[in-house]
Amino acid sequence: MINKGYKFCPKCAGKLKYQSFDSAQHPVCQRCGFIFFQNSKPTAGAVIEDRKGRVLLHKRAESPRRGYWDILGGFLNNGEDPIVGLRREMKEELGVNIKVGDLIGIYTDSYMHDEAIKNYTLNIQYRVQLKTNSLKPNQEIAELKWFSENEVPWNKLAFKSQHLILKDYFRQYKDDKKRKTGKSSQIS
Ligand SMILES: [Zn+2]
Repeated sequence: MINKGYKFCPKCAGKLKYQSFDSAQHPVCQRCGFIFFQNSKPTAGAVIEDRKGRVLLHKRAESPRRGYWDILGGFLNNGEDPIVGLRREMKEELGVNIKVGDLIGIYTDSYMHDEAIKNYTLNIQYRVQLKTNSLKPNQEIAELKWFSENEVPWNKLAFKSQHLILKDYFRQYKDDKKRKTGKSSQIS
């Protein structure tokens, strides 16, 4: 899980050396002692759902993983609240306001920016509903499409964790539906 792509200290440009402590290896500056801690980068993701239990995915127009199907969302800014970041991303990517539902879960994954630097991601995933159907996809999106569970392009998903995220989503959706029909049959 170590990223050895960094060679110089971001504070003083001294040489970094990887040293082991806290059960991990960390780049430590040999000149000023700065420890360049590496952490998974947080993202906020929207599993956008309709009333029929379909999800809205987009085909990536940009690298990495261009041409693969992806959940909408993106990287959080430093110090940004996940839900605020999710709303910002949906404005940027689709030009829409959203209704944020339940948290589906939190998932780790990796994201390659270039050959040398492998970033790990910590993906915070919410159920989301759209307030409008008029979408204005930005240049990051090649195509937008609604998928039922059977239609999801499972072997064409952009990132590994998305199998699990979407499986968890569909399970939660079905559990909700069962709970609701259970309730209504008790009432009647
Ligand atoms: Zn330094």
